[in-house]
Parts: sequence; C-alpha cells; structure tokens
Amino acid sequence: MAETHSLEHLVQALRRLPGVGVKSAQRMAFHLLQHDREGALHLARALEHAAASVQHCALCHTFTEEAICHTCQDPRRDRSQLCVVETPADQAAMERTGAYKGLFFVLMGKLSPLDGVGPHDIGLQKLFDRIDAPAQAPTGVSEVREVILATNFTAEGETTAHVIAQALKGRGVHVTRLARGVPVGSELEYVDLGTIAHALVDRR
Ligand code: ZN
Repeated sequence: MAETHSLEHLVQALRRLPGVGVKSAQRMAFHLLQHDREGALHLARALEHAAASVQHCALCHTFTEEAICHTCQDPRRDRSQLCVVETPADQAAMERTGAYKGLFFVLMGKLSPLDGVGPHDIGLQKLFDRIDAPAQAPTGVSEVREVILATNFTAEGETTAHVIAQALKGRGVHVTRLARGVPVGSELEYVDLGTIAHALVDRR
C-alpha cells in the first residue's frame, strides 16, 4: 500500500540520525504526522535549504553559507594564532571567554578508531594544507605562527591532539595545548568560561 510505504520511508530516513533506532524513529514519524503536519513541512524545508546552502569555510572548515566565514574574514583577528577545536560548539565556548582573539580551525569531529573515524574523516589534511600554504583571505593572511590544540580532554580528543602535534613537527609552527585546568574527560562545550580562559593562558 502506498501510504504504509511512505510511512516506512520516513521511518528509515529518520533512522539516519545518530542515536535514533527504529522505535524512536517511529515515535517521531507518528508525532509529526498525527500532531504536527505544519512542523513536518517546516522541518522538510529547513533540511532541504540547509543541505543545499551550508558549506565548509575554505579556511577554517566550519559550517558557513559563504566561501569564507565571518570569523575568518574579521580583520581584527590575530592571524598568527590558530586554535584547533573539534566542533563549532567548542569554538563558541572559546569565543565566550573573550580571552582569545586569534583564528580557529574546526575539525568537525575527532579521531575515533573504534568508531571507524580516521584522519580522512575529519579536516586534518585541510588543516595541514592551511599551515603549509596559507590561503588568501580578502583581508590578507599572514603566517600562522602558533597552533593551539583545544580538542576536548577525552581519550579521543587527546589522541587527536597528539596526532596533530606529531604531524606539525617540522612545519615551522609553535604547537601548544590547552593547560590541564580543564577536567579530564570533559568537553569544552560544558566547561565554565573561567576555566577555559585559564587553560588558554597557561597553555604549554
Ligand atoms: Zn572560517
């Protein structure tokens, strides 16, 4: 029957979301169809629009609707510092401290061999290319002199930081890591601002 086919199709589509199994997908599908048709259409349009318009910043790899994001275009930024974070949420946490004025590189993930996430699945090569041959921004880019590793203090974040530090050896940049004030096992997104600011000042 056509209608059950459509429902099954929707459930399968929702299951593509991380952490969503059959039961959750069915609950979402039933909810949207039973109680919120308008919301369902709104969701569909928002997904379609975002999937068509959001891309990666050519310089920092974060999500943006332009070729180069606003942060990378900002002429007030210190272009000699590049802070490497896992996600846009971690970047936002660093920004909220007000203690950092340099640029960012957003990996959009972390190395996680157990989950099959390798160097090619996150923005590592793009980061190395950026260090080797600084791309031209409209505001003019000077060399990155310091790379601050601000991946999370989880096992995977530490592994990612270690791999990047090893790869950057001999590339002519000073590599530092946020200091240990940030609790082990924690994600920057959830750490209080003062702690992050201190970890930044005390970086080694
Ligand atoms: Zn950018």
